[in-house]
Parts: sequence; C-alpha cells; structure tokens
Amino acid sequence: MFSKIVIANRGEIALRILRACRELGIKTVAVYSSADRDLKHVRLADESVCIGPPASIDSYLNIPAIISAAEVTDAEAIHPGYGFLSENASFSEKVQQSGFVFIGPRADTIRLMGDKISAKQAMKAAGIPCVPGDGSPLGDDEKQNLKLAHEIGYPVIIKAAGGGGGRGMRTVHTEAALLNSIAMTKAEAASAFGNSTVYMEKFLEDPRHIEFQVMADAHGNAIHLGERDCSMQRRHQKVVEEAPAPGITEEQRKRMGERCARACVEIGYLGAGTFEFLYEKGEFYFIEMNTRVQVEHPVTEMITGFDIVKEQLRIAYGLPLSITQEQVKFTGHAIECRLNAEDPVNFMPSPGIISQFHMPGGPGIRCETHIYNGYKVPPYYDSMIGKLIAHGENRNSAIARMNTALSEIIIDGIKTNIPLQKDIMNDQGFVLGSQNIHYLEKKLASQQ
Ligand code: ADP
Repeated sequence: MFSKIVIANRGEIALRILRACRELGIKTVAVYSSADRDLKHVRLADESVCIGPPASIDSYLNIPAIISAAEVTDAEAIHPGYGFLSENASFSEKVQQSGFVFIGPRADTIRLMGDKISAKQAMKAAGIPCVPGDGSPLGDDEKQNLKLAHEIGYPVIIKAAGGGGGRGMRTVHTEAALLNSIAMTKAEAASAFGNSTVYMEKFLEDPRHIEFQVMADAHGNAIHLGERDCSMQRRHQKVVEEAPAPGITEEQRKRMGERCARACVEIGYLGAGTFEFLYEKGEFYFIEMNTRVQVEHPVTEMITGFDIVKEQLRIAYGLPLSITQEQVKFTGHAIECRLNAEDPVNFMPSPGIISQFHMPGGPGIRCETHIYNGYKVPPYYDSMIGKLIAHGENRNSAIARMNTALSEIIIDGIKTNIPLQKDIMNDQGFVLGSQNIHYLEKKLASQQ
C-alpha cells in the first residue's frame, strides 16, 4: 500500500479520507489554505502544508502548489476528494506527469465524461439508456434546430456540453422560444465554461434522480454497489439522499447496475464513479457520470458494509477489487441529511464560530463532520459543514433514527439547515417516498 498521500481537499471529505488512510496505515499530508489552519484533519494529519491564501483559486485549485506539497513531503499519491480539482483532467495529468498517482480515473476518462456530449455518446455506445435527443452539438442552421426540437417533442432542454453544478441549462416549452434560448444558452456557456457548445434533449417533466455507484480496478473488473435516490433537491443541489431508492425492484437494480459495471469495463474506468440517471415512468435516462467519490457515498456504505474510500486507495495502488459482485449484499435502508451553515428559510450562508457542538449517537447513526466546539466556519467555501447518516432495518426505521439524531444534535453559534431537515423527515410526501426532483422546491414555495 502507499506509505504517504496528499489529501487535496478540505472539510468533512478530507477528514473522511484521513480516517481511511489511518486504517490502512498510510501517512497523510493535509494541504490547506491560510483560512483553514484549524481544520480538524489538518490537526490530525501526519504533516501539513499551507498552499495559499483563502480564495480557492489560489489554494485548493492551485495545481503547482499542491504538486509541490507532494514533492516536499515525499508523498506518493494525491486524493482529490470531491469538488475542487477532482474532475479536472489536466490536474490528473499533471499529477501523473510529476510522478505521483492520481487517486481517481485516468485523465482521458475524466475528459471524456467531463464533456456532456462525449459522455452521452460513449454511454449510448456502451448500451446505457440516455435521454431522447441524439446529443450532437447544435449548429447555426435554424431550420435544422427547429426540426430537431419538433422530432424530440416539446418541452426540450438546451444544455451546455461543458456545464456543471446545475448551470448552463435552459428549458424550452414552445417553438417560438427555441432559437432565442439556444442563442442565450450558447452565450452563457461561452462566458461561464469557456465553451459555447450546446446540445438539445427531451426535457423530462417529473423525473426522480437515481444514480448507481460503481467501482472498477485496473485489471478489468468492475462492480456496482446499487443505487441511491437523490431527488430531494433545491436548485439542482441535493439536500437528502437515500439508498436503496424506494420502489426500485431487485430486477431493475441488477439490470441497470450490471449495465453500468459493464460500461466501466468498456471505457477502461478506474476507481469509484457514479452514473446519474433521471428516472421517469419506469425508465432510466443517463444524464452524466461523476468520476469521483460523492458527498452521498456513505448511504451506500451503510447498506453494503463496504468502504468506498479505502477501496479507492487500494485500486489506485493497483490492487484488484477486494470483492466480487456476488459478495455485494444490501442490508436495510440508509438516509443522509446534508448539514449546511445557512439560514433554513432564506438559505443565506451563515459562517461564524460554533459555540457549541454536540454530536448525536445511537444505533445506526453516523456523523461525518469536521466541526468541533470553537471551530470557525470560514465564509470562503461551500456551506456544507457535515452529513448525518441514519441506517435502519427498513426505510421507516432509518427515518425514525434520523429524527432522533436531528433532535439530539446541537450546533450553536451559527444558523444551520437542521430545522429544514427535521421538516423534510416529517413531511408526509417524503415519508411516503418516491417523490420527484421538483418536490422539495414546490414544498418550499408553498411555505412562503
Ligand atoms: P450538472 O452537471 O450541472 O449537475 P446534470 O446534467 O447532472 O447537470 O443535470 C442537473 C439537473 O438538471 C438534473 O438533476 C435535473 O434536475 C436537471 N436536468 C438535466 N437534464 C434534464 C432533462 N433532460 N430533463 C429534465 N431535467 C433535467
């Protein structure tokens, strides 16, 4: 196994990676911005290196500084976590060129999947069902574009090939709005992503978001670890995730999971990945692949008893997958509530000092967070400060345990979305399960 790696991230995921390293006997190097000296994993790491000022662009996105940190500490590999540089193909390439191992897929795979058009084409070729629409770049021929939309059928959605984070998309309901919408999405895509390429596909009106977790090694083996339902979203951002997805049958899980695993083998995938689908009227439609560990990976870990982060490290070192598909067993149900430092009503970020933190416990409860009494949440980064995960023998028991944990947890000094999470856990529609991606937004709108 590696003897030392750099953790190129911050917050709860950096701590999660550090814990996996400790279990495997790997020494850790924490790299941090000058605003993050007091992060829990920085204090716990074997070594730490300040890589720049608070702004992400100067620190967590500063490729030369991160690679130098690996050089000066004699580390062997770099784990990018999620967000920041985790899906940056040129970072992965530079890491390898500098003689280190990038803990994730090969650079060309990241590149292929980072462009929504090439990803969709590769997935179609690998037999993964995609959203209707051929997924080729839209040209300037207006007649052709009108014809294409007519063939797909309104509503359609115009999406930027290089888009991400829920941006670079526009829904079109009528022919009259089509050409203008294409022009606007192109202009926005050019300024936001430096790539004006857009494509068109069917807009699914009431889908659920269901995604499959996969892991693939360098020896041609791939497995799936079942699916997660991440339909509780606000502004295309996940708020609550769960596994398994309510109502998905064992047959659907096996069929889709195996297709995803097979697609991994076909594209030479390496490490942990997620195939995201919209699910409507019993059908799955691929939207994108995430080539990294995800925020919501713990719900899968809870129902499989399998450590995804440790497996990422093992795979990056060149070891074969530690289990076969037949050994993957699903037990019970798990739910994750994201904990954000934000106002629960107007969603404004709420950085500041945590005057009191009390972690909940009890059977089936897992709390992934880097906060502690006196920790100061800086204003510079994402507002997520942790995740609460509840596992139970079935969905109702997971919800009951989550409710108990949410009633016990104390985070004082800043505002958090805990009241919102309590509200969701007691919402009739959520308790029923299988809600679509608009459910939470509609609920919030009706409360205003
Ligand atoms: P990003 O990379 O920005 O996250 P995705 O392609 O994953 O973009 O889409 C993000 C969200 O946008 C989806 O979860 C869904 O809510 C919505 N969306 C994307 N494509 C479609 C579609 N064809 N029909 C309906 N909603 C869509």
